[in-house]
Amino acid sequence: MDSGQAPGRIGMRRKVAVLGSTGSVGTSALDVIGRFPERFQVVGLAAGNRIDLLAQQVRAHRPEVVSVRDEAGARALAAELSGQDHRPEILVGQAGACAVASASEVDFVMAAIAGSAGMLSTAAAVEAGKTVGLANKESMVLAGEYLMAKARENGAPILPVDSEHSAIFQCLAGHHLSDVRRLVLTASGGPFRTWEREKIESCTPAEALKHPNWTMGDKITIDSATLMNKGLEVIEARWLFDLPPEQIAIVVHPESVVHSMVEYVDGSVVAQLGTPDMRGPIAYALSWPGPRLPLDLPALDLPALGELRFEEPDGERFPAFTLAYEALRIGGTAPAAVSGADEAGVAAFLQGRIPFPAIAEAIAYALEKHQARTIGSVEDAIDASDEGARLAGGYLAGRFAKD
Ligand code: MG
Repeated sequence: MDSGQAPGRIGMRRKVAVLGSTGSVGTSALDVIGRFPERFQVVGLAAGNRIDLLAQQVRAHRPEVVSVRDEAGARALAAELSGQDHRPEILVGQAGACAVASASEVDFVMAAIAGSAGMLSTAAAVEAGKTVGLANKESMVLAGEYLMAKARENGAPILPVDSEHSAIFQCLAGHHLSDVRRLVLTASGGPFRTWEREKIESCTPAEALKHPNWTMGDKITIDSATLMNKGLEVIEARWLFDLPPEQIAIVVHPESVVHSMVEYVDGSVVAQLGTPDMRGPIAYALSWPGPRLPLDLPALDLPALGELRFEEPDGERFPAFTLAYEALRIGGTAPAAVSGADEAGVAAFLQGRIPFPAIAEAIAYALEKHQARTIGSVEDAIDASDEGARLAGGYLAGRFAKD
């Protein structure tokens, strides 16, 4: 990378845009950034429709440019900021988020818009050669191979912010990728890890939203309950670290203290541990390749924990992750279709329209019906994701029609 962008140099602040600034990762990123004003300056924010919170962020961080979902949001934000001494340029929609991501003064983009909605702005950051902190895993799931090629072309480092991938990134530092035998992604197992199949079948959205260890957005919390999140992370790891799916394993680890591991050819396993708090991986990406940021998170107290447990993931009760492996084997647009189907299934479950196991059923249906194609553009990937969502939606409407 261009060493001129390295943070931590005297008189040089990393200029950051946070996409998805009012979401779970976005607010944590701004929390970290706000503690180190000598190292970071927020120059752009993009958010959806939480205008009150966005207005607070604008007042606190004074970005030059802000994007919101629609015109109504733009008017509401302008009204909130009227009379303030600092009033940023306000943009709208996907085009606005892409403009924030590629603005010339930005050198680091925290890509934290949830779901496939984050794809275009992540791609815009990559194409503009920005250093990207990638929290939007869907962009890697939908078009990982394509985006990594674009990143190489444009000299845009993509740094993982997902805790498992940040762990692997940290475990690889100072090692040779060719020495890796396999990556081991840890999974909490979600709230239903110990539940019988019958009980899982009748669970409610509120029960599925009770993640044992992490505080995250709704979509990813449901994905953790189905284990689809781990499947999506296998796909993400496949492209971020350029290793085939046979070299990427999942192990259930209920304490979420070992964030992931790398096993080397000599049998040595390097793991990264820490208190489960997204500010850790966020800070690592923000500071890379400079010195780590000192955070005052609760220290990891291993004697207090007493034991760390590890289990095989159960593909019988939680089949979703096995479908992600299958999509990787098929290749092309198959992972994008699976991701879109999952988004549709999770949305229907959260609305109380379908039972929990139907999420995985819908994904399986979409994967079977989708004709995988090669991805030649970001739009190809988004189309395949949309098709997956339509297939899943059609399947669920037919199976759970109210008549
Ligand atoms: Mg994760």
